[in-house]
Amino acid sequence: MDLIVRNACILQDGELRVIDIGIDGGTIAAIAPGLKADATQLDAAGCLVVPGLIETHIHLDKTCILDRCRIEEGTVAEAVRETAAVKRNFTVEDVYARARRTLERCISHGTMRMRTHVELDPGIGMIGLDAISQLARDYAWAIDVELCVFPQEGLTNNPGTEELLIEGLRRGARTIGAAPYFDTEPRAQIDRIFAIARDFDAEIDMHLDLAETTQGMQVEYVCRKTEEYGWGGRVAVGHVTQMSLLPSDRFQAITARLANAGVAVTVLPSTDLHLMGRSHDHAVPRGVVPVESLRNAGVTCSISTNNVLNPFTPYGDGSLIRMANLYANVCHATRATRPKPSPRSRSRSGASSAGGPLSPARVRSFIRRANSRTR
Ligand SMILES: [Zn+2]
Repeated sequence: MDLIVRNACILQDGELRVIDIGIDGGTIAAIAPGLKADATQLDAAGCLVVPGLIETHIHLDKTCILDRCRIEEGTVAEAVRETAAVKRNFTVEDVYARARRTLERCISHGTMRMRTHVELDPGIGMIGLDAISQLARDYAWAIDVELCVFPQEGLTNNPGTEELLIEGLRRGARTIGAAPYFDTEPRAQIDRIFAIARDFDAEIDMHLDLAETTQGMQVEYVCRKTEEYGWGGRVAVGHVTQMSLLPSDRFQAITARLANAGVAVTVLPSTDLHLMGRSHDHAVPRGVVPVESLRNAGVTCSISTNNVLNPFTPYGDGSLIRMANLYANVCHATRATRPKPSPRSRSRSGASSAGGPLSPARVRSFIRRANSRTR
C-alpha cells in the first residue's frame, strides 16, 4: 500500500466507526482497524471520511453580492430585481473572482461534483458563462463543474434570451434550466426548454413551483412533458416549495408522478426558508419539501446550496453537510431510512444525488484535502 489514513471516521453498516483506510495505486485497497503496512501515514484525527459530495444546484455567477444589494421584502421578486440591477455591472473578472471564492469554500467542505446555473439574457450576455467556464477549467483538478444555462428573467417575454441559451449550449453547456414562474407564459417556457433540450440532447434542470400558495403548480405538467419527450432520468426540478403546502393525498399523488416520470427533485432549504412565508404574520410556512418521503417513493432527490451571500440566500458557506443538518432540523429528519431503488434513479446527469466510488484521481484530491486539514 502507498498510504494509510489512520483514525478515519466512516459510516459502516449504519454505524459510525473510527478505522484505517489503506490506499494502493490510487484506489482504496483496505478498510480495517490497525492496518499494518510500510506506507506513508496520514492521521485523519477522527474526521468524517465520505465519497466526494455532490452540489446539484448552485449559482456561482451571482454569489457574494450581498454587499451590493438591499433586502427589505425578502421575497423572490425582490431578489430577482436586486440581482438584475447589480448584474448590469458584472464583468468576467468580477464574476470569476466571486465565484472562485465560493467554489474554493465548496471544495474545502468536500464537494467534488457540482452543477452551477448560469444566467443568460440580453443584459448579461455571455459574461457569466465565460467566467464560470474558465473557472471550471481552472479547478478541474479538484472538482467536476457542470454548467446549466438558464433564463432567470424570463424567456418568452425576454427577446434575445433563447438565442443566448442556444449559444451557451453550443459552447459546451450540457444542461438547460428554466424559471417558468418568472415568465408571462410559464407553460410556453417549459415547452421551449424541452424542445431546445431535445435539439441539443441536453439535461434539464428547472426552478419550479417556488411560491407560497398551491395555485398554478407546474410540476405535473413537467412530468407529462418528460414522459412525452422520453426524458426520464434527465430532468430535475428545484425548490417545488408549493408541494410542501399540499395535503397528504395530493402530495403522494404528485410524488408517484415524479417517480414514474423519472423527474428528480432538488431541495434548497436555506433559500426556501429565507424566501417563503413572507406574506404571513403567524404560522409561517417554511416551504421545504420533505425529501425523505420522496426518496422512499423512488424519486431521485438531493439537498443543495442554491445561493451564497446574495438576496436569494443571505447566508451560507458552501457546506453540504451543514445544509443537510439544516434540512434535518426543519423537516424532523432523524435516522435515515433506506429508500426503494428507482428504475430511473441512474440519472446520466449531475442531478443524481448518489455518490460514486472514489476514482484514483478523486482519491488523490481527497488526500490533498486531508493533508491540508491535518497539517
Ligand atoms: Zn437556483
